[in-house]
Amino acid sequence: MALKSTRFASNQRLQQAAKNSPPIRRGSSGQHVALVQQAFIDLGLGMAISTKKSGKADGVFGGETESRVWQFQARTGLSRDGVIGRETLEKLDELLPTNGPPPKPLPPAKMTHKINVHMRSIDNPTVPEFTQLKVMEDVFAQYFIRIDVLTGQSVGLTPGETLTLEIIDGACKWDQVSDEQKLLQNAGSKQGVGPNDVTVYFATVLRTNTKKNTTLQGCAGHEPTRPAVMIAASAIDKTTMAHEVCHVLLGSSFTPVHVDEDANLMCSAPVCTGNPAFLSVAQLNRVFASKLVHKLP
Ligand SMILES: [Zn+2]
Repeated sequence: MALKSTRFASNQRLQQAAKNSPPIRRGSSGQHVALVQQAFIDLGLGMAISTKKSGKADGVFGGETESRVWQFQARTGLSRDGVIGRETLEKLDELLPTNGPPPKPLPPAKMTHKINVHMRSIDNPTVPEFTQLKVMEDVFAQYFIRIDVLTGQSVGLTPGETLTLEIIDGACKWDQVSDEQKLLQNAGSKQGVGPNDVTVYFATVLRTNTKKNTTLQGCAGHEPTRPAVMIAASAIDKTTMAHEVCHVLLGSSFTPVHVDEDANLMCSAPVCTGNPAFLSVAQLNRVFASKLVHKLP
């Protein structure tokens, strides 16, 4: 069916995509992408990164746009692939008036999934636990995943443990932990911590290389049966907790795990700038397949 809304009707590329010949994907750019971005903005899906340069939709189909396509598809009951094809364009076309004022924003979405989190602290992080938590909530709320903090505890250590855990040595590896990392991840109560819950440990210093004195903001290394992350007190990135928890959700076999876009939650830059940071569709597919992401009734 040909697109009818005033803003889409005269764009040939959108008319082609509405017939899936071919659909529009990440990497595409031009007026056709800008029109869809503007439609998302008018429907209440913010595009902070795509409008950063000039204040207008930039027409570049990057990570943020892909993430918004996914969100739009999820909120309107379409299959979620992050690609602008027939279904997505027909739905957009239907919501956009042929004439007159901009459309009404989409109704707020319900949470469909949740992640159970426990927090254990042996030090005070530079970015407070609850600030990091709020950032994580905002990131995952975009994808209708709720964060349930089931328990939180400041862990009292013995003088010996305090000394040992002042600097936690160990490489950041998958499915294994060093003795000191293990000690940290066994500190504090395990009560109420289910096998498919994630525990976040706020530590002092995480050192991966004693000779070079290399330290980390965070690490998602944990024993296979005990999903956990560690966050250093010096971590300055507000997304550290969300980033490390996402590592756990993605699992050890997901590649590439870090991406170059600095607004993606899994950015490889020292500080991720997304607010809220977004995930790619490939990352989302894996996150939703994780046994740590529980479907809500
Ligand atoms: Zn990372």
